[in-house]
Amino acid sequence: MKDLDLIDLRSDTVTKPSEGMMKAMFSASVGDDVYHEDPSVNALQDFVADFFGAEKALYFPTGSMANQAAIKLHTQPGEQLIAHQWSHVYNYEGGGVSFNSGVSCKLLEGAQGMLRAEQIGPAVNPPDFYHSPLTTLVCVENTTNKGGGACYEFDQLEAIGDECKKYGLKYHLDGARLWNALVAKGQNPKQYGALFDTISVCLSKGLGAPMGTVLVGKSETISRAMRVRKVLGGGMRQVGYMAAAGLYGIQHQLDRLSEDHARALELAESLKALDYVQNVEPTQTNIVIFYLKPEVDQNKFLNFLENNKVRISAMGQGKWRMVTHLDYTQAQHERMLKLLNEFVYP
Ligand SMILES: *Cc1c(COP(=O)(O)O)cnc(C)c1O
Repeated sequence: MKDLDLIDLRSDTVTKPSEGMMKAMFSASVGDDVYHEDPSVNALQDFVADFFGAEKALYFPTGSMANQAAIKLHTQPGEQLIAHQWSHVYNYEGGGVSFNSGVSCKLLEGAQGMLRAEQIGPAVNPPDFYHSPLTTLVCVENTTNKGGGACYEFDQLEAIGDECKKYGLKYHLDGARLWNALVAKGQNPKQYGALFDTISVCLSKGLGAPMGTVLVGKSETISRAMRVRKVLGGGMRQVGYMAAAGLYGIQHQLDRLSEDHARALELAESLKALDYVQNVEPTQTNIVIFYLKPEVDQNKFLNFLENNKVRISAMGQGKWRMVTHLDYTQAQHERMLKLLNEFVYP
């Protein structure tokens, strides 16, 4: 068998900088960003703030740090935030909610990792009942990660925002994959900037940069975020090389996310037709979640993929995840569609 290149669908974080992105990095002007003197970081922050119609933006090394900073900005120790039970802030940030902010989480259920406005009121602890933690923040995710890349209709987010206003809660959007939602739904980013107190957007997923997340919000909020970022160890120096990659990603690799979405949908459609697949979750963006039939030997499936130089994520209990991205080419896609049809069970 001739040497095949690896098809890596574990995550959209596995991409390497494209040629154009490398050029942008090489030619970036840089300075000490702790002194606010890195022109490339400043350009990225200004661009992203403007993109969302927000007052100010701040560059973070990771999405987790940006989310954790946002939670710190909006809460005091002992308080409680509301989030979906599958949310990244609760499940995948190392317990940072309690470690960094001393805050607890009220976790809610909901299809595909999404909350509904009518769930908010009943989840808010009565503010004058001093036995229970004071509820001060709602965090939503768009697109949802564990929810399979699902995205909200904008009016659903507005309805949750109305509840936040009614109960005096801050409203944070974990928008690690907000770019995918904007492209999939054709939504206006400025509406997002107007609705949320803070939004984090990731540059190292679909947009293909090596690192970085930007947090946007009001000037006053983002000025305070600077101090929190420093406390968390996220003050960086000549990081403009990385910021330039992020800006390149937004300017040149955003619209192409629709290709990732189209390929993900084709994968989902072909999985549905296979006799060894139990169920495929609705696929709206670049994440495909599916379940093998219980009688299928999970290891056999994994070995079959490994032998054919394909990597996807096993999520346990027969649940599997594939994520399409910039480095998943049309040729790989065609090979993948064929391969899925070649697996024989049991
Ligand atoms: C990837 C991701 C993050 C941030 O992850 P980092 O690896 O810390 O950059 C945050 N929220 C969601 C929903 C994500 O998918």
